[in-house]
Amino acid sequence: MEKFDVLVIGSGPAGYVCAIRAAQNGLKVACIEKWLDQKKQVKLGGTCLNVGCIPSKALLDSSCRYHDAKANFSMHGIDFKSLNFNLSKMMSRKEKIVSKLTSGVAGLLQANKVTTITGTAQIMQDKVVSITTPDDTVQTYQAEHIVIATGSVPIDIPPARVNEKEIVNSTGALAFDEIPDRLGVIGAGVIGLELGSVWSRLGSKVTVFEAAADFLMMADKQLANAALKNIKKQGLDIRLNSQVKASKVKDNTVSITYLENQSEEKTEIFDRVIVAVGRRPYTDQLIHQSAGIQLDQKGFIEVNDHCMTSIPNVYAIGDVVRGPMLAHKGSEEGIMVANLISKKQTHMNYELIPSVIYTHPEIAWAGETEESLKTKNQAYKVGVFPFSASGRALASAETDGFVKIIASQETDRVLGIHVMGPSAAELVQQGVIAMEFVASAEDLALIIFAHPTVSEAVHEAALAVDNMAIHAINRKK
Ligand code: FAD
Ligand code: NAD
Repeated sequence: MEKFDVLVIGSGPAGYVCAIRAAQNGLKVACIEKWLDQKKQVKLGGTCLNVGCIPSKALLDSSCRYHDAKANFSMHGIDFKSLNFNLSKMMSRKEKIVSKLTSGVAGLLQANKVTTITGTAQIMQDKVVSITTPDDTVQTYQAEHIVIATGSVPIDIPPARVNEKEIVNSTGALAFDEIPDRLGVIGAGVIGLELGSVWSRLGSKVTVFEAAADFLMMADKQLANAALKNIKKQGLDIRLNSQVKASKVKDNTVSITYLENQSEEKTEIFDRVIVAVGRRPYTDQLIHQSAGIQLDQKGFIEVNDHCMTSIPNVYAIGDVVRGPMLAHKGSEEGIMVANLISKKQTHMNYELIPSVIYTHPEIAWAGETEESLKTKNQAYKVGVFPFSASGRALASAETDGFVKIIASQETDRVLGIHVMGPSAAELVQQGVIAMEFVASAEDLALIIFAHPTVSEAVHEAALAVDNMAIHAINRKK
């Protein structure tokens, strides 16, 4: 039985990053992956690279360019005779990006001397891992340390079972071969909004059913309200308080029955339906009962703040454990665990995991919201700067949205940043860096920002915290 210092199960952004860091730390590491392509070759990179972050962003970008050309070029004085898109070319561009990145992961693992093992892992007693290979042979390995990074899969709901044709989940929605005329989306979460935007820009009439009465409940309310208004303006029909109860497939269409405002039952017909109601941790057939690893009530592997499970030297990271299901959260946990195993110093701040929704404009935030601070009874100050007052945003006609900075009333320390607008995903990171370094709003206000940039909105929002914005009228709060 071959022995490793560390066996990582899963090669998604949590697993492969952990494997690389552990190998960089001088350990003998193997990474096990079961995902195969059509040629039965291993596919590395997990959900993120294959059917998540990367392919969705490729389609978001392509569809955004098409929509921009159609809706906005004429205001720049650019006219053209006809504008078309080629969906299969868009899809093959997406596939090429995916394959470049997944082969990049293979190269990185190899360069760091991580052994890749293809097969499905099951954890047995005493840190023995049994692996069923694609040709159905079973191999066993032992390791000093095991890191579980098996990720998550889409939740399937009885009222709308995925049939991979008319009713799909996010994976199917990244690979439609034609534009559905009428597209229903179940769930106005991150996937519903991002993939709903893709197909809406390409011509679908998109209706999004959301069971909750509030939109983007995890976001700051002011940000969520602005985002809802903006997304509706783009033509996505968002139906809040609309819980999907049943669906019926007939003649290539799907009728969706939903309960509106918990009282009235209604039915609507669609050509395609995307189910995007969340993801569940993936532990199917992973843990033999003799292994003794505990799951929590929701099926996540139970871990402490350092991602240690109930069994010594067995760790779990990424989507398969508590916390937001985000690639960067899993990767940082991977680095933390690899360093802990190597007895090196490490740092993971669960309070500052940025969230981004890649709609256009982007929506992004990190840290406290006004609502979370009210719950904690903590006094705060707010500075908001609208992009309509930013020279750079005006020059590029990207004036929707704002930067909002929340700071402590008592200490002026920056506690939260909330952005909708151009490059929100990048701008929010400036707030994260400020918060990691325990900056005050005044610290941010004293930094020189290049002109003209959309980053100046961060500067002005920091100034606005104390009613000192220069390029907007400060209203007394
Ligand atoms: P995964 O990426 O799911 O990888 C787990 C791997 O483990 C898989 O390859 C699986 O095959 C393998 N595995 C499972 N069980 C076994 C076993 N028994 N033996 C061997 N191998 C096994 N997050 C962001 O941060 N930003 C985004 O923009 C973003 N966009 C997304 C868009 C979509 C459409 C989706 C679906 C998700 C998106 N996410 C995004 C979420 C992100 O993809 C996940 O948070 C991330 O992939 C989780 O990483 P992970 O390594 O924990 O798990
Ligand atoms: P989500 O949890 O973000 O949203 C699911 C939504 O579906 C919720 O608002 C829920 O109220 C609603 N819902 C549940 N059942 C319903 C029903 N029967 N009828 C109507 N609405 C219903 O989940 P998601 O959008 O599927 O995304 C899954 C995960 O993937 C998220 O945790 C997210 O972090 C991750 N992801 C991240 C990004 C990003 O970072 N940009 C992009 C895509 C996905």
